[in-house]
Amino acid sequence: MIKALIGILVSILAVTFLRAVMTLLVKGAKEAMQPDSPTASSGNAPPESGTRLRKCKTCGTFAPETRMLRHSTRETDVFYCSKDCEKQAAA
Ligand SMILES: [Zn+2]
Repeated sequence: MIKALIGILVSILAVTFLRAVMTLLVKGAKEAMQPDSPTASSGNAPPESGTRLRKCKTCGTFAPETRMLRHSTRETDVFYCSKDCEKQAAA
């Protein structure tokens, strides 16, 4: 009886451990394949951890999402690096 209980416990631990590893792997792969990493560096500071880089729709500058002006549409979010770029896009 004890042996059966230990067996169940071990398999539960194994599944939990495997799940954690898989989650980490998937997360790591997603971060490595981040499509909008800066290609043409324009002197931008590296992104803060946990902040996605966004591309300005008007001038193409990459900046952390938190510093961008966000315009949400039904399909997607559009980002501008400054009021000027926002104005240009609206014009
Ligand atoms: Zn811009």
